[in-house]
Amino acid sequence: MTERIYLDHAATTPVRPEVRLAMEPYLSCDAFGNPSSLHADGQRAKHALDDARDTVAQALGAQAAEITFTSGGTEADNAALLGIMWAHQGRGDHLITTQVEHEAVLNSARFLETLGFRVTYLPVDEQGRVSPGDVSQAITDRTVLISVMHANNEVGTIQPLREIADIAHARGVLLHTDAVQSFGQMPVSLEGLCADLLTISAHKIYGPKGVGALYVRAGVPIEPLLHGGAQERQRRAGTENVPGIVGLAAAVRLLLPERDALTARLARLRDLLLSSLRACIPGVVLNGHPTECLPNNVNVSFPGGDAESLLLALDLAGISASSGSACTSGSIEPSHVLTAMRLPGWRVKSALRLTLGRGTTEDELCRTVDVLANIVARRH
Ligand SMILES: *Cc1c(COP(=O)(O)O)cnc(C)c1O
Repeated sequence: MTERIYLDHAATTPVRPEVRLAMEPYLSCDAFGNPSSLHADGQRAKHALDDARDTVAQALGAQAAEITFTSGGTEADNAALLGIMWAHQGRGDHLITTQVEHEAVLNSARFLETLGFRVTYLPVDEQGRVSPGDVSQAITDRTVLISVMHANNEVGTIQPLREIADIAHARGVLLHTDAVQSFGQMPVSLEGLCADLLTISAHKIYGPKGVGALYVRAGVPIEPLLHGGAQERQRRAGTENVPGIVGLAAAVRLLLPERDALTARLARLRDLLLSSLRACIPGVVLNGHPTECLPNNVNVSFPGGDAESLLLALDLAGISASSGSACTSGSIEPSHVLTAMRLPGWRVKSALRLTLGRGTTEDELCRTVDVLANIVARRH
């Protein structure tokens, strides 16, 4: 039997063995201490936490005190939206976001609406990009925060974040960006993006699940989501997930020196995959932006295809792919991202997302195209 082919790296990535090794002492009787304890066991954990915070801060071009560890991207997004809107009620009650955000942002925004806040959900163009002009027009004197993701998890489209940051700051509005997808695959620096808040997640960069971080620019008031002990400078109560945080930092440390080379290799593989799909399957179309996109994302539609049955057939052939975001597949809801891009029904219905990763090989992609071409040919 041949090995399975994993092309769903936007859903999650395998934990690198080096990451697991780095975490191990903190899962054993070696270094199990509580970082809040003053004795030597506690202090060992505290040191690990401090080191991890330095690593994540340096990777983003931030200061250590600006990093709060969370239980993942979802919590960081919730903390950013709720925490900022709650803390700035004296200034206003208006949030601007987009129709193509991850559910963690969209559903936080919807929750804020039930609390009486007002939210504008900006449209995108056919390639999934927000117009900076629309952002500018949506700002009112009640606008507190703009939340626009760096790169989309379904189609890989990269947003014009720097332009949006300049518009936001010229009007005294804060900017949050969900950089969960981009962080592992392209340079993500606060100097470049100029965001006031930024979300990352460990399991999208070959780290463990259940841990992430939120950057909050120094001096920006934010209300915590969790109340309890004084951990994380009173921003996030609860004994820290030390093994997870150590794992996140280890993943970041491994990622940085290889990210540029990885980006280039993935982009080459992506082009290869796309050109062989086009050569082997008549009528296949790319969803998303052709150039302003993540190097590992290929979201394509097949005339006459149906994502559910394509995925099942691929799975049977040993290939893991996705029809969109992992959170909505399994249900028959059409993708909110493709719908917002106003693609014709057949493209929404037949969209398949193949996301490559560190371990992806040319051979795997050739086999995938063969299998897909066979599946599509069979149903005509
Ligand atoms: C995966 C993902 C999240 C959620 O992160 P978790 O750590 O799984 O909670 C948020 N935003 C984007 C863009 C993602 O891809």
